[in-house]
Amino acid sequence: MGLITKAIRGTQDVLPNDSYKWQHVEGVIRQVCDAFGYKEIRTPVFEHTELFARGVGDTTDVVQKEMYTFEDKGGRSITLRPEGTAGVARAILEHGLHNGALPLKAYYFTSCYRYEKPQAGRLREFHQFGAELYGASEPYADAEMIMLADETLKMIGLDGIELQLNSIGCPECRAKYHAALKEYFSSHIDELCPTCRDRLERNPMRILDCKSPVCSGIAEGAPVILDYICDDCRAHFEKVQELLTSCGIKFSINPQIVRGLDYYSRTVFEFVSKDLGAQATVCGGGRYDGLTKQLSDTEIPAIGFAMGLERIMLILEKKQNILPDQKTCDIYIASMGDRGAHKAFELVSDLRQEGFYAECDMMGRSLKAQMKYADKIGARFSMVLGDNELDTNKAVLKNMTDGSKTEVELGEKLIEEIYRHKIDRELADCVNGLSDGGEAEAMAALLGGLK
Ligand code: ATP
Ligand code: MG
Repeated sequence: MGLITKAIRGTQDVLPNDSYKWQHVEGVIRQVCDAFGYKEIRTPVFEHTELFARGVGDTTDVVQKEMYTFEDKGGRSITLRPEGTAGVARAILEHGLHNGALPLKAYYFTSCYRYEKPQAGRLREFHQFGAELYGASEPYADAEMIMLADETLKMIGLDGIELQLNSIGCPECRAKYHAALKEYFSSHIDELCPTCRDRLERNPMRILDCKSPVCSGIAEGAPVILDYICDDCRAHFEKVQELLTSCGIKFSINPQIVRGLDYYSRTVFEFVSKDLGAQATVCGGGRYDGLTKQLSDTEIPAIGFAMGLERIMLILEKKQNILPDQKTCDIYIASMGDRGAHKAFELVSDLRQEGFYAECDMMGRSLKAQMKYADKIGARFSMVLGDNELDTNKAVLKNMTDGSKTEVELGEKLIEEIYRHKIDRELADCVNGLSDGGEAEAMAALLGGLK
């Protein structure tokens, strides 16, 4: 296949027959965000490079190796966003949103761009759902943020996802920890990978996050941050845990979780799935009280997370019965001859006005080919319009599932009739799907009442 008809490595198309899965997940997320009082924010796909690469201190892989950075025609350095948080922080400061009602709660769906080695669950263009809470430094904010992520995953229907928590303290307690880490890793310096040797000087905490087996083996014996955090940070972390426990959210403490940038502090967390192999983290989050200070003079406490939507879709593909069925056609109106085709076109238009998903032929196909198509799109009802039907103003409505047929009058009556069939059928499906006898009885009574 030529280059022009091949997508760029590490990118994915969402095709028409799969997009409903994304829409479903996004719909669930929006509902959960509504319940928690988070409003959507949309920011541009590209920003000034400086927004992501803040000075020379940045030691994350994302900034050092993974960014899509280019010069635009005006000679400015532009970067495709590798994550959502920085753009949101920029927008909050630019529009002075922190001067309004606090806490400020926002969520986003974004595409992100990172030059990584593509593999299952790791793409160069991927998508995140993220949430941000600005203005609150209390542990209640940390607990709410974690609850939001937890509730989202539960409402999507995912189980077997483990929440892991850690605290990385504040800049003061972290200085002592850095010193201890430096001492520990210095005694293993010859075994560390070249990147970690560099990290040893600049930010030893990032060695804990290295994916090389040798470095992560050494990291297992490293000093643990929780032995170094100050009393305030400890009390904060304990309260977060108490709040989660009292709301029935299970977690484990994982002292290896770090978000090693200077602007991160205190709570950090990840949601890890057993169903994802190497790319196991579906959601990563933490507190970043120092972020806005790096962008402007304003310091606003903040906490947030980002969830990888492709990884969520991968888990969903492996599990049965979580995703609803794709919406299928309510009625296909087939036709024979010009008059029939014209009438079918008008009827379909009327039905759509009434909120039905209706289709008719647009390709001059034979009746047989039209019915084959109706089957393919899963039409629940079909009808054929030809000269005879138009002359008598009557047609046969066929239930495509059980083959039953009902004669209906064309015109106003038809829409009423289709409504009635649709409601009957949906209620019948509902009754069949109910296992509890009491509910089934109630539904049957409702059905009777409608007739
Ligand atoms: P990882 O350790 O897997 O590289 P990360 O720490 O770089 O993840 P974050 O920057 O915290 O990831 O992004 C939040 C989430 O976005 C991740 O937990 C993951 O679900 C998803 N994610 C990150 N990078 C990718 C990618 N290249 N492709 C698909 N999803 C990704
Ligand atoms: Mg990464």
